[in-house]
Amino acid sequence: MPDCLFCKIIDGTIPSEKIFENEEFLAFKDINPQSPVHILIIPKKHLAKLSDCGNDEKEILSGLLLTANNVAKEIGIAESGYRVAINSGDDGGQLVHHLHLHLMGGGKLDGRMA
Ligand code: 5GP
Ligand code: ZN
Repeated sequence: MPDCLFCKIIDGTIPSEKIFENEEFLAFKDINPQSPVHILIIPKKHLAKLSDCGNDEKEILSGLLLTANNVAKEIGIAESGYRVAINSGDDGGQLVHHLHLHLMGGGKLDGRMA
């Protein structure tokens, strides 16, 4: 997607602090962290939002969660705990229209979800 910020991060047009990358997924630091650890995990395939996904995206969606858990293990926050969040659509607070999962941790998080 030519005008998509995260597609530009995938192709390197826009720089990012990469944490993990394989053929399907990329993990990089959020530019405006809301917690000591705040990483975004995105599929390399452009999907605008979670609510657009269906059975065809089963592997991508499960891979997104498993990648988050693997990254959490790799950076040492899996045991202390972490939160994953996906904002979908306007009411969900989604600002970047490329499916992404927020991985947050590195300290006790606020219990509120909104
Ligand atoms: P959303 O609200 O769409 O779920 O989250 C978008 C996230 O992308 C926000 O947490 C925001 O800080 C992050 N973000 C926006 N622009 C950039 C950027 O250019 N680079 C990086 N690394 N993160 C970004
Ligand atoms: Zn995109």
